[in-house]
Amino acid sequence: MEDTKNMQFKSGFVTLIGRPNVGKSTLMNHLVGQKIAITSNKPQTTRNRIQTVYTSEQGQIVFVDTPGIHKAKNKLGEYMVTVAEKSLGEVDVILWLVEPTTYIGAGEQHIAEQLRRVKTPVILVINKIDKVEKSKVLESIDAYRKVCDFAEIVPVSALKGDNQKDLIDTIMKYLPYGPAFYDEDTITDQPERQIVAELIREKALRSLNEEVPHGIAVTIEQMKMRKNRELMDIDASIVCERDSHKGIIIGKNGAMLKKIGSLARPEIEEMLDCKVNLKLWVKVRKDWRDSDLMMKNFGYFKKDI
Ligand code: GDP
Ligand code: MG
Repeated sequence: MEDTKNMQFKSGFVTLIGRPNVGKSTLMNHLVGQKIAITSNKPQTTRNRIQTVYTSEQGQIVFVDTPGIHKAKNKLGEYMVTVAEKSLGEVDVILWLVEPTTYIGAGEQHIAEQLRRVKTPVILVINKIDKVEKSKVLESIDAYRKVCDFAEIVPVSALKGDNQKDLIDTIMKYLPYGPAFYDEDTITDQPERQIVAELIREKALRSLNEEVPHGIAVTIEQMKMRKNRELMDIDASIVCERDSHKGIIIGKNGAMLKKIGSLARPEIEEMLDCKVNLKLWVKVRKDWRDSDLMMKNFGYFKKDI
């Protein structure tokens, strides 16, 4: 009986690629039903490979959320591009997320070029269909069909959840039979610390305006459960590149830092399932994005790619 059951079970790795802002993190969060990857309307929000796991009776899909493929401007950019490109050949299925447009720009053409080089089946996912008329979606499908040889094309709305069951079924079609990689309760292999850091970084990105763009990182200095196990003390630092940025992040009388903390805390509490005492600090590290050493310091390891 067990054997028959296992013969039916599928499992494999799926990577999500697409231009920044097309909705990769939103889709993944929706599919696995819990917030793991951070989302914002600023590009390059996602920096690391984040694995989330979807398990059903049919099988198990391990999602790898990659940073957008784009031209590298500095060391961090190079790292992000390498991670994204390397992922393509290692997975069972590639999901390419695009918006429902008929104009296919240089960024999309660049991705298409990479895709033509790999043998992995590509499912084109046309996202944000809630934003346009149905006829536009059909026109978009026609336009994209000419760009690449897709295994499937699935229109969805990551935000509203439309067609997500279809998407799951379509992915399963292309996965090999095999046992689960993770037990069924697992939804991510990210250490809690990193998710906490990402949640804080998300709130900071959302609260700060363009004056402090992508030059921030968050490090967790301490995460410790108190003896009675009712409260977790978390000390975290927001790292920026300029003294002037530090002032903006702290805000008048500490108002901005307070805002970031009070937005992040409830979500961290929900994730950890306990009360949290969150203390935030701001540090200046000049040009951290161009330094190999500092990249390592912030957890971006070349050898992990
Ligand atoms: P990523 O950079 O590809 O990971 O994109 P995000 O998931 O961070 O999403 C970027 C923005 O697009 C966010 O403001 C999302 O709320 C929005 N978004 C994502 N999916 C949809 C969708 O299906 N419909 C609409 N209207 N907006 C979406
Ligand atoms: Mg993202």
